[in-house]
Amino acid sequence: MSKFVPLSIGVALIAALTSNAYAAGGMVPGPNVVAPDRYVYYPGTEVLAKDEVRVIACGTGMPDARRGQAAACFLFEFGNGEKIIFDLGSGSMRNINALMIPNEYLTKIFISHLHTDHWGDLSSLWAGGWTAGRPVPLKVWGPSGMTPEMGTKYAVEHFLKAFNWDYQTRAFKISPVPGSIDVVEFDYKAVNKVVYDENGIKISSIPAIHAGDGPVSFIIEYGDLKLVFGGDTSPNKWFVEHAKNSDFVIHEAFGTPEFFAQDYGQPPQLAWRACCEFHTSGPAFGKIMSEIKPRHAVAYHSMEEALAGVRAGIRETYDGPLSMAVDNMVWNVTKENVTERMVVSPDRASAVRGPTRQPPPERGRPSPMSKFIAGGEWGPAFNAQNKMLDEHAKKYNLQDQDWRKQKPWYKPNK
Ligand SMILES: [Zn+2]
Ligand SMILES: [Zn+2]
Repeated sequence: MSKFVPLSIGVALIAALTSNAYAAGGMVPGPNVVAPDRYVYYPGTEVLAKDEVRVIACGTGMPDARRGQAAACFLFEFGNGEKIIFDLGSGSMRNINALMIPNEYLTKIFISHLHTDHWGDLSSLWAGGWTAGRPVPLKVWGPSGMTPEMGTKYAVEHFLKAFNWDYQTRAFKISPVPGSIDVVEFDYKAVNKVVYDENGIKISSIPAIHAGDGPVSFIIEYGDLKLVFGGDTSPNKWFVEHAKNSDFVIHEAFGTPEFFAQDYGQPPQLAWRACCEFHTSGPAFGKIMSEIKPRHAVAYHSMEEALAGVRAGIRETYDGPLSMAVDNMVWNVTKENVTERMVVSPDRASAVRGPTRQPPPERGRPSPMSKFIAGGEWGPAFNAQNKMLDEHAKKYNLQDQDWRKQKPWYKPNK
């Protein structure tokens, strides 16, 4: 059971975030006491209740990469143990990995559309998780396109082609199994049609309007909860109709035209279309939320410096519960409460091992290295490692798997 912050305190926190006071805490009654609730979430320290969903913003920014903010990515963790990633924008894996979740639980990815700021870090999850012990393939759900070449299946197939060298070398050295990606492509025109129904989680897709045919948003039902993840979209009728009566709604909200002209380097004639024709501005976001009246609304997809302007725009048209999402914001959602906190996680988190071991290399798989290149190995440096490797072999009982014995340069330590 996680600790709940009453909504009123959540609202206070939202106010605190407005002034960039991220580390708000309760009263500390003495100099040598445990501090009360710090309004933060330490990954791996809270077990979810069965009927609870934890949503973590692992990326909230723009396509133009920046060190301090990743692009679109929201991790949903369900009380039944399921974890699903909604969009995996460039830079977002650094935030996901800081949550120290074993890779075997990070295998399901839903992609709202194929802009790189929504799936650009698939390469990091795919290859990074493979090297860090993932025992199984990834599975990606995403929309079709106007033609097969504009769909998710084509994108992932060609992703694997582009990374063929990476695939072949890791498949040989580690195991080919975690390198496959299964794709479930569904019709982007489907309106509120179920695209996933497993373990009590139902996900439906609705069309979005953004740059071209293909983009969608997702409606997630779990127990009594209805949550919505909106990908990029301008205001659209499907969202207004099908996101109604939701407990928790994530929707993009773009900076003002002035922000994009002055702070994002866009020419003014692009700035006022980017924000407001193929995306959703603050006042438009607010209008949508006032219509669908969610229990809690989340705005994302702007640089932090733009958020004050976005919020002011939203408040012209919406006065309900609202979070202005920044990276590592986390919400616990139940039928009783929606709480907002910040994740506190280390910059240098390492992969955490799960209970399942990765399968061994495939026997008989042809090596992607020729005799010519392998023949260039310089023995003296390899043999200089022998003391360390002998100790490792002894500790883990690897004597009968000693790879050095096949090498012409091997000179065992006496
Ligand atoms: Zn986009
Ligand atoms: Zn985007």
